[in-house]
Amino acid sequence: MDIASIKAEHKLIREWKYKWTPLDKGYTDKILYINVGSADIREKDVPPVMKEKFIGGKGYGLRLLWDATKPDTRWDDPENEIIISSGPVGGITQYSGTGKSLVVSISPQTDSVMDSNVGGFFGPFLKFSGFDALELQGKAVNDVIIFIDGINHRVELFEAPAEAVDSHVLAEQLTEMFADNENEKKNIGVVSSGSAAEHSLIGMLNFTFYDPKRKKVRMKQAGRGGIGTVFRNKKIKALVCKIPGVKGNLNNVVDLEAIMERGRRFNREMRELDDKQCRMRKVGTAHLMEIMDDHDLLPTHNYKFGSHKDAPRIDSAVWTSFFTQGIPDGCWIGCNMSCSKAIDDYIITTGPYKGQKVIVDGPEYETAAGLGSNGGFFDPRYIIETNFYCDTYGICTITWGTCIAFIQECYSCGILNKERTGGLELTFGNIPPALELLHQAARGEGFGKIAGQGVRRMKKIFAENGWGDPAFLRDIAMENKGLEYSQYMSKESLAQQGGYAMTNKGPQHDEAWLIFMDMVNNQIPTFENKAEALHYFPMFRTWFGLVGLCKLPWNDVEPENNAQTDEPAKVPEHVDNYVTIYKAVTGRPFDKQRLVEDSERVYNFQRVFNLRRGYGKRKDDDQPYRACGPVTAEEYESRAERYDKQLKELTGYDPEGKSTEEKIKVLRKYREDQYDLLRDAVYKRRGWNRNGIPTIEHLRKIGMDFPEVIDVVKNYQ
Ligand code: SF4
Repeated sequence: MDIASIKAEHKLIREWKYKWTPLDKGYTDKILYINVGSADIREKDVPPVMKEKFIGGKGYGLRLLWDATKPDTRWDDPENEIIISSGPVGGITQYSGTGKSLVVSISPQTDSVMDSNVGGFFGPFLKFSGFDALELQGKAVNDVIIFIDGINHRVELFEAPAEAVDSHVLAEQLTEMFADNENEKKNIGVVSSGSAAEHSLIGMLNFTFYDPKRKKVRMKQAGRGGIGTVFRNKKIKALVCKIPGVKGNLNNVVDLEAIMERGRRFNREMRELDDKQCRMRKVGTAHLMEIMDDHDLLPTHNYKFGSHKDAPRIDSAVWTSFFTQGIPDGCWIGCNMSCSKAIDDYIITTGPYKGQKVIVDGPEYETAAGLGSNGGFFDPRYIIETNFYCDTYGICTITWGTCIAFIQECYSCGILNKERTGGLELTFGNIPPALELLHQAARGEGFGKIAGQGVRRMKKIFAENGWGDPAFLRDIAMENKGLEYSQYMSKESLAQQGGYAMTNKGPQHDEAWLIFMDMVNNQIPTFENKAEALHYFPMFRTWFGLVGLCKLPWNDVEPENNAQTDEPAKVPEHVDNYVTIYKAVTGRPFDKQRLVEDSERVYNFQRVFNLRRGYGKRKDDDQPYRACGPVTAEEYESRAERYDKQLKELTGYDPEGKSTEEKIKVLRKYREDQYDLLRDAVYKRRGWNRNGIPTIEHLRKIGMDFPEVIDVVKNYQ
């Protein structure tokens, strides 16, 4: 079908015109509310107290979601919302990494509050169209598309039966449809999901950005926690936003020159230092592959091991050769870090798009590790093909990687077999059945449908079927709170164990990535040091998601003298850049202390939100033992020297002549106790009680003492 014929099938449900509010100091103070079930479209004002306490981005998402839902609202209830918001800094173009959006919803995987950050055009374009946030509620009967026309200031909600569902086709169709000419394609932002999101709980959202050099629509992903599943459950096929264009100072900031000065400084660092440091412009985050392998941190065979002899087959040199070089790969305008690498003209070998030549966005590090080493796949072409299909089918590559690795381990120890998987021999590294599993997930068929339920539910299903020892399944199922682990080995870093499992949404390293500080550089040796890091970094990193910033330019290039500063792990000069930029956008008095305070309010609100839904307690921060230490004899013996030494030095236990099973038991007791002690120290530092619940005193101190918040915690003091 050509674009005109597809468009002819549209059936307008509602058109709503609005009076445009231009941005002032980074804000419009307006929210666009759309109920796709009742076709109610309207704008809401942002109350001053919401702006003051929640700042923007994730903060706005959490506040709106709290108000829109009840404690027992389920992910697939019409009242569940998807909120997209960038933040006051989002959309400036004079500093790298300033176009992020945060998506918030009740997650089908965790049954709790999920947030996921993403690049691409939609968030900033929404702001330029007049809204700080988009609040989506209700459930449509048939597939709908929402068009936000930031030129003529109107919103359309229409049924759209003829467009594709899979993102790489749909995004192209809609960009073509809503751009009047080639030049306008850069003014269109599309959000979509894909067919696997319809049949699984691990659906994600693709946000487009237009690549004028390649003349291609490209995508970034809000991957974690199944928000794409909520999107498709609401029967939303896509969101489209169109603006007149991006220019100079659309955020109407207070001091543009101050931002430009910091931008020039940062760009100089990128020019002079990136090639010597992380090579983000050449290979993006995939530069981490060999570093992780060298430090025994690359997840391999469902996080059993941290390195593999075949890792060089999927290391950064391989990705550098696949990625098209010398192209500005920024997912937002003005980003000089340009890490959104892509493989052009890749020919698909399986599934519904077999034979087609496509562009594949990525793989980034976690995709290469998750879809590669963790499943024992050391064939880059398999990783590329799976990356492409996960994206277009609308499922998270990190999640899928952890799901399939769990399945493979279950298969390798007899919990699964061909009969149980419908004939798929899902052993480590076996490519054809792994690809078939993904296609099944997209079709909602066979064992693929079970895989798409995520690790927590698979673990339950397998145990209920009597297929494996529930305790063993608990140990090897790499999930916490219902979310799959992202792709770092945390066994040897106690702080990283906390960075994963003592999070609000589940194990995603965007709250705290402490492996290097803790394990490699030994900068945080005591419980108090670790607790301080597990306070500061999650709070600091939360802030990026409040204001619309990408975290990567913070520490993926560092000023030349960074190592000589007092606190190199914090990258003080870059923190100062952010303080300066935030002040220059908003005009608000601000310093690095306030930065942490702003985050702390929102972080604690999210913890209480979880509590309101029945989570957010100490037991919810339990981790699977695989994240903490060796579960199997094979694992122990593969690093026997290390573990024997630890037993002797740390516990006083003599491993000489003892069986592996005995040694595993003693080590486990020690490590689990350590984690519990860490939990105590972290809770104390965060102002929480021993059950992991913020104290009323602390909530008052940080200014997050709304009566409805106190009401939730008061019974747990
Ligand atoms: S650093 Fe990478 S992910 Fe971040 S904004 Fe730039 S291109 Fe996008």
